Amino acid sequence: MLRNVLLFGDEILRRKAAEISAITPEVRRLAADMLETMYYHDGLGLAAPQVGVPLRLFVMDVPREGHDKLVCINPVVGERGPMRRMDEGCLSFPGVTGTVARAAEVTIEFTDLSGARRSRKVAGVTAQAVQHELDHLDGVLFVDRLSVARKAVLAAKLRAVRQRGRRGEHR
Ligand code: ZN
Repeated sequence: MLRNVLLFGDEILRRKAAEISAITPEVRRLAADMLETMYYHDGLGLAAPQVGVPLRLFVMDVPREGHDKLVCINPVVGERGPMRRMDEGCLSFPGVTGTVARAAEVTIEFTDLSGARRSRKVAGVTAQAVQHELDHLDGVLFVDRLSVARKAVLAAKLRAVRQRGRRGEHR
């Protein structure tokens, strides 16, 4: 089932998400719905707070890097590689993009839907997406990491999205 994707301006996006204590049928349903919603919008990743559920779960799939479909529950990042600047966007910010400095490689640890704890080393766009989605779980949004100059360029667009988000509009 498709879920609504909240827009920048909705206060749920700023909350710190809570740990998931058990893989219940509701958690499985949430993950399946989030994957469906992510594919529908051609996104590379989607975090639970973006569909209005403040839990530590995100899904991702980076087609360019071999369709590595992941459901990550209670994820944490271990080792981080050197920083690189990369272009970025977000489903909660229609029409907004900018360059963000991210680690080019990260090791991520997470629980999968079977309840097993896994560890994986990722690089490139997958590493970028992991860091972007992890930020969502702490209420951090990619625009927080844009340069002052870029934010100034985007000011009108950001204001327009925020107004829609505050009114509870979604995509
Ligand atoms: Zn995002």
